[in-house]
This record gives sequence, structure tokens and C-alpha cells, in this order.
Amino acid sequence: MSFRFGPLIIPQSQVFMVSRLSYGLVNLKPAVPGHVLVVSRRPVTRFNDLSADEVTDLFQQGQRVSRLVERVYKADSLALVIQDGKEAGQSVPHVHLHILPRRKADFANNDDIYDELGSRKRVRGVDNDERVPRSAEEMAREAELLRSELGEWSSDASTLSDGRAST
Ligand code: AMP
Repeated sequence: MSFRFGPLIIPQSQVFMVSRLSYGLVNLKPAVPGHVLVVSRRPVTRFNDLSADEVTDLFQQGQRVSRLVERVYKADSLALVIQDGKEAGQSVPHVHLHILPRRKADFANNDDIYDELGSRKRVRGVDNDERVPRSAEEMAREAELLRSELGEWSSDASTLSDGRAST
């Protein structure tokens, strides 16, 4: 099974959560440890292209994944970001929610994380991205960790693997 992310094909090994309408993807270039993405399974570009069901699923899974990464990465807070369209900084034309675990003093200036999110953009024609892409192996290891942590968490909370209540 593979997953579309804009023009990219994502291998299943890098996906840690699959629900009916969304999936969770580890990041090629995380801005902070545990920076992950929740992506709509239907490949559409803009937030307003999503149906009501897709919005509900994306945000419900966003809550679930945000609890997961806040716990696993021992964070105190979270940034949840959608860059909706090219002029808003979107570089992959496929709706996705960034989830970034935040910790005290993780950036010298707290809001610098938003510059970091945008730092893939070219500044005066020069690639301004200093982050090195991670290897497929490293991404697969993180996805495996999150998958197993999510499994434990969801069985504790009496939920199915896609986050629905097991009744
Ligand atoms: P945006 O600029 O809001 O569209 O965000 C795109 C996100 O996708 C960034 O956080 C990138 O690091 C991430 N990204 C790009 N390519 C991949 C990939 N092949 N696998 C995982 N994450 C990716």
C-alpha cells in the first residue's frame, strides 16, 4: 500500500496512522523532533476542497496524533499549522496539517518556528533550507515507534486503530 502526497508517492513504511479519510506521515525535514503531518487521503490542494466528513476526520485524527506526539516527545505545547495555498507557504499541493510538539526554549525566539516552517522557500533565488533530508530508514524507524505507541495508547483508551470508539 502506498499513499499520495501531492506529486509524491509515500511508502507505507513512513506512514504511522491510517484512518478512513486521513493518514499520518513522518516528516522528511522535521522543524522540531516529532514534527509530523496529517494528510487527507484524497489528493486535493486547498482546505476548502475537503468535504465536511474529510474536515472532521482530519481534525479528529489531528487531535489524536497531537496527543501522541506531545506524549512521545515529552512536549508541553503544540503548534498546529495548515499552509493553505502557495502564497501561504504551501510547498506540497495537497492538504496537510503540520503537528509540531513545542517545548520551553526550543527556539531562542518562540515564534521563530514559523520562519523554520517557511525556510524551504528560496530567498533571493538561493535555496535557504539548511535542514538535511532524513534517510528512508530513519523515517521508517520513527513511523514504527509512533505506530506502536499509538497502538498502545488506543487500546488503553478503548479505541480502534483508526481512533473510533470500540463501544
Ligand atoms: P508545506 O510547505 O506546508 O506544504 O509543508 C510540506 C511538508 O512536507 C514539509 O514539512 C516538508 O518537510 C514535508 N515533506 C516534503 N517532502 C516529503 C516527503 N517525501 N516525505 C515526508 N515529508 C515531506
